[in-house]
Amino acid sequence: MSNKSHKKTWIAVLLNFFIYGVGYIYLRKKIGLGVLLLILGLIDVGISFSNLDVAFNSYVVFGGLLVGTYLALDAYRLSGHKITFLGEISLGETSEKIIEKIGDVLIVLLVIVLLIYSMVLTIIPKETKSISPQQTDIRTKPITIYIDKFPYGVDKKYENSIRESMSFWEKNVNVNFKEVATFSEADVYVKWFKEFGTGTLGHTLNQKVIDIAIGDSNCLEKWRPYTYNTVLLIAQHELGHALGGKDDYENPNKIMYYKLSTRYEIDVEESDVIPDGWTRFYPICTKNDIATYSFEVTSGEPLDIYIVPSQQEYELLAKNKEFKHYATCEGKEVKFYKKVCTISSGSGIALKNPTTFGLGSDAQFNLKIIES
Ligand SMILES: [Zn+2]
Repeated sequence: MSNKSHKKTWIAVLLNFFIYGVGYIYLRKKIGLGVLLLILGLIDVGISFSNLDVAFNSYVVFGGLLVGTYLALDAYRLSGHKITFLGEISLGETSEKIIEKIGDVLIVLLVIVLLIYSMVLTIIPKETKSISPQQTDIRTKPITIYIDKFPYGVDKKYENSIRESMSFWEKNVNVNFKEVATFSEADVYVKWFKEFGTGTLGHTLNQKVIDIAIGDSNCLEKWRPYTYNTVLLIAQHELGHALGGKDDYENPNKIMYYKLSTRYEIDVEESDVIPDGWTRFYPICTKNDIATYSFEVTSGEPLDIYIVPSQQEYELLAKNKEFKHYATCEGKEVKFYKKVCTISSGSGIALKNPTTFGLGSDAQFNLKIIES
């Protein structure tokens, strides 16, 4: 046997073992079978890569090795080598052909069975994933949960919201959580986002990956964190999904209700200077038609403060024209102002540094608005 054909044998054997059917194509023998096996094998690899549970399933691994071994041996045989099992059994040429055909059909069937099994593994959720918060089945094994690192520049106090949510569900349904230190040991993976930018507050993928938003930039395009309680409600809701709970479209007071009205920790917090005779306006970003806010202003110089129902009313004020405002929320020449006002959507706070014939001082002020 020449070196060349020896080399060719081993290439064919290895190809058939690692990439089903390619050894046949390489040998230009059983090309049709080779192409069929290659296509089935590629689909199988695709499924395994999309779901690691499949890739590491022992039946799938064992079946794959079995197919690879058979194909490698067949490539070895087709390269002109003789393989004998259980001593010498001599068969007629016709019988050999029939056995070979049966072998080919069986191996294709085995690959198809493995493929179907992999698909079934991907489609059918794991036992731990089918727990519904309404069910009261006894769980002996805790659900492991990995809490990802917190985004830079966000107060770490929010991290506790997911732990509080774990105890919430432990109290309400028969479930146990265990926090783990690595992603790989976790059944559930919690990720934090400063914001999604889509109006979404959180989502849960395949009952496995929980994404939670901590704030948004919907108010005056500046990022603001939500209140701890808002993040807690998001975390409880998403963890409910991880346990198999579905969105509730009927009961707004239930944790699985599909909507949540968020609150910012602080709606507006500003420090600025108003020159003598000038005005400033800060709109309030309420999602409700009517909301109650607490306004707090401290200033180095006395200011006139008005809560106006719209930007238009503020513009009238700035032009020294007649304007509408919430009379009970008015502050005249005050250095410290604190009021709780119920206002309609579109309202804002107007600050005016009243001039003393252009001889007054700049007013350095701090403003804080919190929904109450
Ligand atoms: Zn939901």
